[in-house]
Amino acid sequence: MVFRFGVMGGAFVYRDLGKSFSEWFDWVLEAAEVYDYGRYPVKGMGIWLPYGFKLRRYVIDIIRRLLDESGHEEILLPILIPQPILAKESEHIRGFEGQVYWVTHGGFEPLDVKLALRPTSETSLTYMESFWIKSYKQLPKKYYQIVSIFRYETKATRPMLRVREVTTFKEAHTVHEDFEDAERQVLEAIDIYRRFFDELGIPYIISKRPEWDKFAGAIYTIAFDTLLPDGKALQIGTVHNLGQNFTKVFEVRIQKRDETIDYAWQTSYGISERVIASLISIHGDSKGLILPFKVAPYQVVIVPIYREEEREEVIKYALSIAEELKGKGLRVHVDLREDVRPGEKFYYWDLKGVPIRIDVGPREVKERTVTIARRDEGVKVKVKIENLYEEVIRLGKEIDENLRKKAWKAFTSKIKRFTSLEEAKRFIEEEKGIAEIPWCGRSECALRVAEELGAEALGTPIDVIEKVKLSNEAKCPVCGVRAVTYMRYAKKY
Ligand SMILES: [Zn+2]
Repeated sequence: MVFRFGVMGGAFVYRDLGKSFSEWFDWVLEAAEVYDYGRYPVKGMGIWLPYGFKLRRYVIDIIRRLLDESGHEEILLPILIPQPILAKESEHIRGFEGQVYWVTHGGFEPLDVKLALRPTSETSLTYMESFWIKSYKQLPKKYYQIVSIFRYETKATRPMLRVREVTTFKEAHTVHEDFEDAERQVLEAIDIYRRFFDELGIPYIISKRPEWDKFAGAIYTIAFDTLLPDGKALQIGTVHNLGQNFTKVFEVRIQKRDETIDYAWQTSYGISERVIASLISIHGDSKGLILPFKVAPYQVVIVPIYREEEREEVIKYALSIAEELKGKGLRVHVDLREDVRPGEKFYYWDLKGVPIRIDVGPREVKERTVTIARRDEGVKVKVKIENLYEEVIRLGKEIDENLRKKAWKAFTSKIKRFTSLEEAKRFIEEEKGIAEIPWCGRSECALRVAEELGAEALGTPIDVIEKVKLSNEAKCPVCGVRAVTYMRYAKKY
């Protein structure tokens, strides 16, 4: 299979002999040995293969660091939630009940109380917080865990994008003494996710989800969306202000500064392996993965090239370079396979997305140099051995920056404002973008626009620093009332 992928006139184009993005994605997960999907005999559940698992680990390391640095504490809650606890917050259970897997038996015995495989942990954690948290002096409290969650998806499942076991669910849960502090926490969470996606070079928009699409049980939901090369928006992170919805039903009461007693306030926010799916989709090309230096399982792969009589000195040279780079903390692999020609090795490591390949042959040994090939741009440079480590670090940063810039450039060219629904529809369908349309603020108007566009409403912008500028003439295309903001529309996963 040959896939060609490129940014053509600002548009993502797969000139792929009739193959779609989704076929490319399936191919790259399998060929690059990231994730085995579709063969395990439970629908919607995939297997992280060793190479994919390493990538996942380095991605998780970043979010763990960002959370730890900002005072979040990692915990681990049970996977089973008793039915009465999951059902206690009525909005919440209405949002989830069609998607819950239930454990009904222990061995041969039917259970008195059904147990849910957690779809998320607001309920079980708030239940426990009613025992733990009594005073404003303990607050704010910031917990997180990185676990599997289960959702019986009724839509067609897709590897990593829509699964029934979400294996990399990072859920954070916080408790606060008042609404203002919960609001401050929402901003902190947004900032953490911004930095996380920036480190991975994943572009995003941040929107306040419309009322009908917020998290079940939240006052409101802020969402990060990116755009995959097929033109569909993918939700990659959400932040919820939960208000006192859960603390009221679970009786989490705290003593306040003024000695009165009140229910605590909460937020929660989550990300999943969709982050890794977007990392793969957005940076990849026809040859396979292109991984950022920061999270690549191997940051550098060394390929020795020699004739039989040069074998010993070239391999010795390659191994000594590897030792030096490893000793300085880099993830390095030397490809010593004897039965594979160098050309095939190049192809293989390109497919695996290794950011920096180092080729060494007799000439390099003699000159005390190496030849460095960059995966992102496909260019080669010669470097003196004494400058190698510094050069690799510099290139690593440059590669990550280049990937981030390219991804943002393509992404921003896909977001446009429209007053005409016809033009917006054409943009969404043909240019595969996100359209922003003036909105009066009424749900029925946005739902109507979404229907006419054959798209979904993502929400209103909250990421634009400059105030959303609306002229007096900007009117809601449905009711004609003066618009108060924009609503974003796109096809959506
Ligand atoms: Zn309207």
